[in-house]
Amino acid sequence: MTPDEFRRYGRQVVDWIADYQERIESYPVLSRARPGEVLEALPEHPPERGEGFEAVLADLDRVIMPGITHWQHPGFYAYFPANASGPAILGDLLSAGLGVQGMLWATSPACTELETRVTDWLAELLGLPAAFRAAGAGGGVIQDSASSAALVAILAALHRADGGAAGRDGIARRHTLYVSSQTHSSLEKAARIAGIGAANVRIVDVDPATLAMDPARLDAMIAEDAAAGALPVLVCATVGTTSTTAVDPVAAIGEVCGRHGVWLHVDAAYAGVAAVCPELRWINDGLDGHADSYATNPHKWLLTNFDCNVLWVADRAPLVGALSILPEYLRNRASESGEVVDYRDWQISLGRRFRALKLWSVIRWYGAEGLREHVRTGVRLADELASWVRGDEAFELLEHHPFGLVCFRPRWDGLPDGEADAATLRLMDRLNASGDLYLSHTKVNGRVLLRVAIGAPATTAEHVRKTWQRIREEAAALA
Ligand code: PLP
Repeated sequence: MTPDEFRRYGRQVVDWIADYQERIESYPVLSRARPGEVLEALPEHPPERGEGFEAVLADLDRVIMPGITHWQHPGFYAYFPANASGPAILGDLLSAGLGVQGMLWATSPACTELETRVTDWLAELLGLPAAFRAAGAGGGVIQDSASSAALVAILAALHRADGGAAGRDGIARRHTLYVSSQTHSSLEKAARIAGIGAANVRIVDVDPATLAMDPARLDAMIAEDAAAGALPVLVCATVGTTSTTAVDPVAAIGEVCGRHGVWLHVDAAYAGVAAVCPELRWINDGLDGHADSYATNPHKWLLTNFDCNVLWVADRAPLVGALSILPEYLRNRASESGEVVDYRDWQISLGRRFRALKLWSVIRWYGAEGLREHVRTGVRLADELASWVRGDEAFELLEHHPFGLVCFRPRWDGLPDGEADAATLRLMDRLNASGDLYLSHTKVNGRVLLRVAIGAPATTAEHVRKTWQRIREEAAALA
């Protein structure tokens, strides 16, 4: 493709995306494709001769779009949002256009130094502890996902706990990791990958009312395990759990970790960006002096296209110690000078995309003010929805909803719990089949609840009002 052809098709693609944004509400939120449908519509063999980009664009509409679930639709309330925005899309396009691979400082100094600046900016915007800034012993790094951040944190914690023995000789004795029943499954996956083993992921009780980890129980479990000869490696506290956005008591957990010398990783994948608003900055309580690593996903709720997780560490030495490896073909003068950061040492893969461009574009386009406004809108709309649910006798509400997620269910008066759960799931399926909205569910203390996660940039008060009306009507029809 020549630059001129690129210019022509590039304009078509940008127009296509802008048209898509304008007409997104005309699509059913949840794709109605049946399994195999997209696959069948695709030729079994690749073309021998190039086809031209018109053909790709035509098939995008004909074959691909029916298989798309529209995450940017204002009626998308499932899981957590995936926030796309104009500046992030353009930042990603620039990154693709530059085609830079930023494994080493030397392979594109701007790729590294912009990332250092932007992760510092985000730390400042969120009011994170000074220890996470690059000027001290710590610093931030962009990962693809919170799952990768957790794996990297575990590897750094292992390195600190055993002086690098596991990395060198393999895991020889029992190592343990501490989560709660509400912790994201990525921690168990990371423990499996790191060789700690799922059986050594210890599940600490939660308070049944708040669903927050019990620090006294954590303390007792770490002490028992250590006494039995295990090496406690890492505790994961969560700020904003996946199921219900419960918040673990980070300060109390941090004190336990400090006493036992265990690494504290704080997973704030969804909720962490809420700290951009001073009134929500309480979510950082306990980080300072306690958290060894902290991760949040601008791609969930901060107007940044997937993928963009930021992981900060208070001390980069164990991280680099765990992951640095220097074959001859990567040797270069800049790395050897010790004056530069090589982010390949802060992640699993060697190669890395220039993700900082999109985060930079987002922060500059919206400014702190615009980012706060986005988070506040989500919180305000969630508050409104929660107030309607609370005021309706036919529904029960999970009162804890500090962010954009509201969990509730119809009371289904008279139905035993099992049947009520089945009815709630039936209701969810009917709503999702309508094409107007898409929500997901969770189970809290054995009962199925609907989850409405507000935070797609296109969602307005009117959309939420209509959604609530729709849920009430469908629930009444099923009752
Ligand atoms: N941690 C929490 C609390 C989450 O809610 C999620 C996803 O929703 C994850 C981790 C995993 O996120 P990722 O897809 O970035 O790996």
